Amino acid sequence: MEQVRNLLIRNVLPIMSPDTMKEESADSFLATFGGYMKQIAAVAKHDSGFALYESNVAPIHEKYGDFFSTVAKITEAAGIKLYAVIYTFVDNYYGVDPSYKTYNANGVANEYYVCPARESFWAYLKSVTEEVIRFPIAGIILLGNTFVRQEFCFCESCKKEFSAAAGIDTSFTWDGLRDNDQLFSKWLDWRAEKMYNALSGIYSVAKKKEGLDFLIGVDIDPEVGYEKGAFRQLGQDVEALSGISGHLLVSINPWSPILPSPGSPEYNIEIEKMRFIDNITARRRKVSFKYWTLINENDFDTVKSIATRFKATKIVSDLDFPEKYRIWREAHLSIA
Ligand SMILES: [Zn+2]
Repeated sequence: MEQVRNLLIRNVLPIMSPDTMKEESADSFLATFGGYMKQIAAVAKHDSGFALYESNVAPIHEKYGDFFSTVAKITEAAGIKLYAVIYTFVDNYYGVDPSYKTYNANGVANEYYVCPARESFWAYLKSVTEEVIRFPIAGIILLGNTFVRQEFCFCESCKKEFSAAAGIDTSFTWDGLRDNDQLFSKWLDWRAEKMYNALSGIYSVAKKKEGLDFLIGVDIDPEVGYEKGAFRQLGQDVEALSGISGHLLVSINPWSPILPSPGSPEYNIEIEKMRFIDNITARRRKVSFKYWTLINENDFDTVKSIATRFKATKIVSDLDFPEKYRIWREAHLSIA
């Protein structure tokens, strides 16, 4: 675990999560590395859907139900800044709940995600946030802010709402959507607006805590189609989302996990495709970058180089690829 120490010395903000810490407890991790830390992030609402603290609104994780609260206690005592990670629409608990399931146009649900357009789920996420800001935290990181693919969500509620908004029959089909440019563009706008409203709502709760840093995660991936793909496939209007709290967290190559070396032709393409970030920082909004793991020196060099180029505020990293990584990747690249 020498590498973790290196990350901390390099001022990376690592995310502690039970599934990337390989059975190591929060206590022992912090006892080992606390001395090197000025800041750390820890998962409060896990992608499994379970709370890792004593929640009154979310289901509590059976084994790690005090993970986040333990981290909060230790970091507060040690004077270490803590960021809480909340997974929004990546939620395996409500992903199987008939009220929140998300479907593609063939009626196939993906149980690892929930429908991002349900206002009752937004209210639930706000309640979770209300609980999380009571902990001694310096910031919140929202991850999993995503539709599965462009053909999501075809749940009954989305079909009903979109057809009313677009003035079409509820029995509209995917082919009917895609073959009509005007309608298809309405579909993409409608989804992105839902995402924007959902995340704005969560921020409206979080900002009650004064001085809280609030990072909104988006996914910029070559195979998904970079910024345009994030909008089209994942429902993320990156520039609009950057305006919610003024701090965007860009995941680099989350679904195409090969990072090009600085200076290579692939690297230059990557930089070219990220130039939209200049427009965001020019408006005095902050941008930070995230990658799954920066244990590998070459990956760190690439992310560091991109971060420097775009005047990033922070570099965030998981400690390892999360347990569900393959499942998420297959879903977003539609290769399942
Ligand atoms: Zn839906």
